[in-house]
Amino acid sequence: MDAEEFRKHGHEAVEAIVAYMENINDRPVRSQVAPNYLRQSVPKHAPKEPEDFDQVMKDFNSDIMPGITHWHSGKFCAYYPTAFSYPSMLGEMYMAMLGVNASTWAASPAATELEYITMDWVAKLIGLSDAFLNTGKGGGVIQNSASDATLLVMAAARTRILDHLSTQETIDPHVAATKLVAYSSDQTHSSCQKAAKILGLRFRALPTRDDCILRGDVVRQAMREDIAQGLIPCYITVTIGTTSTGAVDDITSIVEACKDTQVWVHVDAAYAGSAMVCPEFRHFMKGVDQVDSFDFNMHKWLLIHFDCSCLFVKDRGLLVRISTGAPDARATTNPTPSTTLSDTPDLRPQSLEVGGTESGESTTTTTRVESLTDFGPSTNRRFRALRLWFTIRSYGQSGLQNFIRNHINLMRYFQTFLAADGRFEVLTPVHFSLIGLRLNPELCQRVDLGMGGVPDKSNPELRNNAANARLHGMINEAGVFLTKSDLHGKTFIRVSIGAF
Ligand code: PLP
Repeated sequence: MDAEEFRKHGHEAVEAIVAYMENINDRPVRSQVAPNYLRQSVPKHAPKEPEDFDQVMKDFNSDIMPGITHWHSGKFCAYYPTAFSYPSMLGEMYMAMLGVNASTWAASPAATELEYITMDWVAKLIGLSDAFLNTGKGGGVIQNSASDATLLVMAAARTRILDHLSTQETIDPHVAATKLVAYSSDQTHSSCQKAAKILGLRFRALPTRDDCILRGDVVRQAMREDIAQGLIPCYITVTIGTTSTGAVDDITSIVEACKDTQVWVHVDAAYAGSAMVCPEFRHFMKGVDQVDSFDFNMHKWLLIHFDCSCLFVKDRGLLVRISTGAPDARATTNPTPSTTLSDTPDLRPQSLEVGGTESGESTTTTTRVESLTDFGPSTNRRFRALRLWFTIRSYGQSGLQNFIRNHINLMRYFQTFLAADGRFEVLTPVHFSLIGLRLNPELCQRVDLGMGGVPDKSNPELRNNAANARLHGMINEAGVFLTKSDLHGKTFIRVSIGAF
């Protein structure tokens, strides 16, 4: 494709994008295709010869579009939202135009510097304390996802505790590495357990009651039990806005339970963190000043396209210390199982080792700009901050706040219908733009369960679950996309508002 062809198809693309967004509600929100549908139409081998781009676009419309679920449709109230905005879309285009890799400072100074600056903007917009700003010891960097952020801080937590234990001389750090425990609640996103599995840490999901809130007394008790068993508490995820019901853990009491320990407290606010741009929701942040790290996804609910998970830590130095974990090849030359990525240049690609200014070290001043490459497993990364800069400037603080408040007001409006209707019960308090609801139990007994029937008539809870599952299926067939979930054995329907 040459520049002229690009101009033609580029103009068509912008028109197609605007037409798509303007007419999105006319489409069925859920894809209607059957599994493996694409194998029928897309050839098994890549084309040998170049193809005409008009033909590619024709196939895009006939083959790809039918397999799309329309996340930005007004009929999409499933999962949690994913973000869209026109300035962020333009940011994507210019990011593609520049096509730089943001690794070290010299690899593209603006890409590195803008990320630190815009992450400080974001920290201030959501009311984080100065301890999380890049101007001090702490700071924020963009991660691919909240799951990646959890993995990274859990690795940093492991390094911190092993470093600490190596100074105690009461336990061999290699033995200690096998005894570390990561905690979460039974409502925490599954990525926490996944991170523990990847890192080889023991994992314990602590029970919550009907309100889905994890509290300090449960954490303290669990840590005591584990210490008595010879285990070593190391890390905990605390959630603002759990995936299933949007519950908020009791951060203050959990921080208190972890005080005077080496346990790393991480706040996962993947969804609800965006609401913190509005001061009226900041009471949910109580205790965040005391934690080690905080992450939320602007790519969920704050107008920036995936991927934009904003991770803030109190101690940037620890973040770059990626632990090697249990003894491995390097452990033979390294007396403890932990290592610091940034001070082991032998482990780093040659291309990054080309002199002082590569890392932003100034020859004339004492200024230094740290390499983004040290803040996660990826050596290179996209110029993701450009989308933040475009979007935050285009909306301003007031525009971001209005965006969130609009969704929350829509949820309140929806609740007035529910209250007037009287056929539903709401499971947990509604803090943001997610609600979990069920049909009233007496109505459940009267619902026609259709072909599936109910497995055990003597168990009313099973019948209630089947009735709610049936209702959920009927709503989705009617053309709105909702997801269902399970809370302590109760099936319920989630309604999540957040589409652009
Ligand atoms: N944490 C919470 C509370 C979530 O709700 C989700 C996804 O919905 C995640 C983490 C995972 O987010 P990501 O897809 O960015 O890894």
